[in-house]
Amino acid sequence: MDQFFCLHLFLLFFNLFFFSSSSDPKSSFGKGGGHDSFILGNYGYSSSSSSSSSSSSSIKDEIIRVANAPENVKWLKRIRREIHEYPELGYEEFKTSALIRRELDQMGIGYRWPVAGTGVVATIGSGSPPFVALRADMDALPIQEMVEWEHKSKIDGKMHACGHDAHVTMLLGAAKLLQELSDTLQGTVVLIFQPAEELGSGALRMIEEGAIENVEAILGLHVVHRYGTGTVASRPGEFLAGCGSFKAEITGKGGHAALPQESIDPILAASASVVSLQHIVSRETDPLQSQVVSVSTFQAGKAFNVIPDSAVIGGTFRAFSKQNLDSLKQRIQQVITGQATVHRCSAKVEFSEEDHPLIPPTVNNERVYSIMHHISTEIVGDNNTHTAPCIMGSEDLAFYLDKIPGSFLLIGTRNERLGSVYPPHSPYFTIDEDALPIGAAIHAAFAHRYLISSSQWQQI
Ligand SMILES: [Zn+2]
Ligand SMILES: [Zn+2]
Repeated sequence: MDQFFCLHLFLLFFNLFFFSSSSDPKSSFGKGGGHDSFILGNYGYSSSSSSSSSSSSSIKDEIIRVANAPENVKWLKRIRREIHEYPELGYEEFKTSALIRRELDQMGIGYRWPVAGTGVVATIGSGSPPFVALRADMDALPIQEMVEWEHKSKIDGKMHACGHDAHVTMLLGAAKLLQELSDTLQGTVVLIFQPAEELGSGALRMIEEGAIENVEAILGLHVVHRYGTGTVASRPGEFLAGCGSFKAEITGKGGHAALPQESIDPILAASASVVSLQHIVSRETDPLQSQVVSVSTFQAGKAFNVIPDSAVIGGTFRAFSKQNLDSLKQRIQQVITGQATVHRCSAKVEFSEEDHPLIPPTVNNERVYSIMHHISTEIVGDNNTHTAPCIMGSEDLAFYLDKIPGSFLLIGTRNERLGSVYPPHSPYFTIDEDALPIGAAIHAAFAHRYLISSSQWQQI
C-alpha cells in the first residue's frame, strides 16, 4: 500500500504550519456534561431575508437538533465502532460495503452497487437535477492497532488508522438526516461511498463507473488531529498538492570494483541523478510556487567488491498545478536519462501510473467553498472555522474536483483527554467521536443548502 498518497502522512509536516486555538473549542459552541450531549451551535440564516432562507433556517435547525439527539449520537458511535472492529484494505471493503447497504436499506434509501468493486452510490431526494454529491472513503490500512480499547480492531495487521471509519459513519449520519428531510430537497443528493483512497485509485474508478454522472458539485471531509473537536478548516482555491511517483532503472556494466575502468558504473550515474534532481526545484522553479521532488529509494549492488549492472532509484514529486506537475515529470525524465548518458549508462524512467495514478492537485472551487464555509460557520461558529494553510499531501478526492466543482473540509478531532492526538497512520491513532454528529450535520446541511442555491441560480 502506498501511504504517501494519503493526506495524513503529511500532517506530520503540516504540524509545523498549523495554528489552532489554544482554548477548548468545544466550550465555544456549547457542550453538556456527557459525551452524548454535544451541542452543535449557531445554525441559522439570519443574514438573508428571503422566504426560502427562513425555511432553510428552520431546516438547518432541524438538522442540528436531529444530529445532536442522544439516540442519534449513540447510533453514530455504534456504526463507527462496528466498522472500526473490522477494518478492510482497498478494494476489499466487503463487510464495510455490506454494513453501508444494510443501513441504507433500513433507511429506505435506494443505491447502486457494486461500483468500483465494493463502492456504493446512493441517492436521496427528487431524483431530478440538480445533483450534488457527498463522498466518504471506506478503506483501512495495513497497520497493527496498538490502542487498547473495547472496540479495538479484530483483524490482525489491519486498522482504521486514517479515520475512514468515521467518514463512512458521518456520511451515513447525513443520509439519515437528509432522508428525514427528503421532501424539502430541491434536487437530488448523491452519496458516494468509495473504495481504496489509500491506494490513490478508488475515486478514479468510481468516476469511470459513473458515480458523478450529472453531478454538479461534490463535498469531501477528512478528520484531522491538529484541530480540536468542534472546529473545522479549509481554504479556497489550491489546498492539497498533486502527486506523482517515479522509478528509474539505470543500467551500466558490472565488474570487479578494483577495476572500474572495465565497468560502467550505474551507482555513479544514479548518484549524479539524485543530486541533479534536487536542482529542478531549487534552480528551475519559482520559489513562490511550492513544489517537491524527493528521491526516497535507492537500490544497487550486493557486494563491496562488485560494481553492479544496474541501480534503481524512485521517489515522489508534488505541485499545486497540473502544469507544474507535468513540467516536473518531464524534467525528471530528462535529468535522469541525461545523467545516465553523461556516465555512459542507459536509463528507463517509469511513472507507474497504472498502479499509482498521478493525483491532481486538490483545488477548492470558490463558489462551492463559500457555501461550505458558510455552512461551517453556522454549524460550529465563526471562531471555530479556520483557514487552513496549503498542504503538500494529496487526496484522491482531487479526481472528482478535477471533473466537477467541489470542496474539501478538515474536521477537527483533537482531544488530549481521550488520547486523540496521534497523527493518522500511527498505530495509536484514535479519534474523538464527538466529531461524528458535526461531520454528519455539515454534510447534510451543505447538500441541502447547495441544492437551494443551485435551483435559485438556475432560475436567474
Ligand atoms: Zn491515510
Ligand atoms: Zn485518509
